[in-house]
Amino acid sequence: MSNYDVIIIGAGSAGLPTSFFLAKEKLKVLVIDELPSPGQGQNKAAIGGVRATHSDPAKIQTCQLSLDVFSRWKEEYGDDIHFNRGGYSFPAYTEGHEKSLKDLLVIQKKYGLNIDWLDAEALIRYLPGINPQGLRGGTYSPEDGNLSPMLAAQAFYRQSKNLGTTFRFQEKVIGIKDENNSGIQIKTNKGTYNAEEVLIAAGANAQEVGKLIGVDLPVMPDSHEGGVTEPVKQFFNPMVVDIREFSGSKNFYFYQEVEGHIVFCLTPEPIIPGVNRDSTSDFLPQAARRLILLFPRLKNIRVRRTWRGLYPMTPDGVPIVDKVKDSDGIYLAVGFCGQGLMLGPGIALNLVSLITKGKPVLPEEIFRSYSLYRDYSRPSEALK
Ligand SMILES: Cc1cc2nc3c(=O)[nH]c(=O)nc-3n(C[C@H](O)[C@H](O)[C@H](O)COP(=O)(O)OP(=O)(O)OC[C@H]3O[C@@H](n4cnc5c(N)ncnc54)[C@H](O)[C@@H]3O)c2cc1C
Repeated sequence: MSNYDVIIIGAGSAGLPTSFFLAKEKLKVLVIDELPSPGQGQNKAAIGGVRATHSDPAKIQTCQLSLDVFSRWKEEYGDDIHFNRGGYSFPAYTEGHEKSLKDLLVIQKKYGLNIDWLDAEALIRYLPGINPQGLRGGTYSPEDGNLSPMLAAQAFYRQSKNLGTTFRFQEKVIGIKDENNSGIQIKTNKGTYNAEEVLIAAGANAQEVGKLIGVDLPVMPDSHEGGVTEPVKQFFNPMVVDIREFSGSKNFYFYQEVEGHIVFCLTPEPIIPGVNRDSTSDFLPQAARRLILLFPRLKNIRVRRTWRGLYPMTPDGVPIVDKVKDSDGIYLAVGFCGQGLMLGPGIALNLVSLITKGKPVLPEEIFRSYSLYRDYSRPSEALK
């Protein structure tokens, strides 16, 4: 049996940055994942959007921390994670959408976010080729951005390993024993390990892992598909989020990453609950129609690949980041919905502070939104 300060279950969007920041604090960390290498769960399904322009104050402040980490990563640690501060834009084609986006601006500005409403003419300058018919304008937030989820996962993994973190892949956690005052024992299909503290960062599998400690975690996965085109000459920078609803799909979002590929994703309507990750035949025709509707100039672009992954959803669309009551030191970082990549490093910094200092980085009254013990019936976030 080995002894660690912290054992993390899950080498994904949340577990990897947390392992890195814990190791930076000189803690002895073990990360266990049932898959063969880092980021092979839902992290690699993400398309790469990173924004702080939410409506929930906890998400706003967490993603501001994340953007700070991602934007300085290359300069501080040397790895190119393809971070591009290209911004986000939500165009509006209806009066209702214009009103809801403008209403949201009030909250976003209150939290100091750099976001504004642009009229159609100004927006077209950032989105050349966007369909002008009926375009009323849209929001633009230049400090948001995008990056490669795969390169970011590799960077956190490599740097964490360099600082001494142990990784055990192809090992599934099957038991968690919280011995009173004598640490926590983790049992896998290959061995047993001991630690002072344990972090459950098990993504779409959170509910199954929660059962190992007798906690019913309200994390229900549903599936979403993404795709990528061939590369074309760079012609727009922001992540574009089209919030119009069409038959079969809610919103649609896409951006041009630094090598010129257009990466896209849509939210199916109705949602597709479950863990099926086989690509469907519906997704590509739906996504292609929406892409061409918004950017007619892309009608001849060729799609290279599609994939399907999971959003680990909570009932209110807000993650669960908390210490389990009456445990010796069991922490949760689960339920990241469609935003785990962008929340990951900010959540990691808060967890490190919780574990080492007993309080989060964010003001406690704001961090409380992430509590396991909150009322989940409050209204969920309107926009992805
Ligand atoms: C199509 C698509 C597009 C998306 N786009 C974006 C985006 O643009 N921006 C964004 O922020 N988010 C995006 N997301 C959401 C994002 O991918 C997830 O929110 C995020 O990856 C969840 O992070 P996680 O750490 O909770 O889970 P994961 O990254 O899945 O990590 C959990 C890990 O735990 C491991 N695990 C589980 N159970 C066990 C066990 N018993 N023993 C050992 N290991 C275990 C798993 O193998 C997995 O590797 C997108 C998702 C999809 C599907």
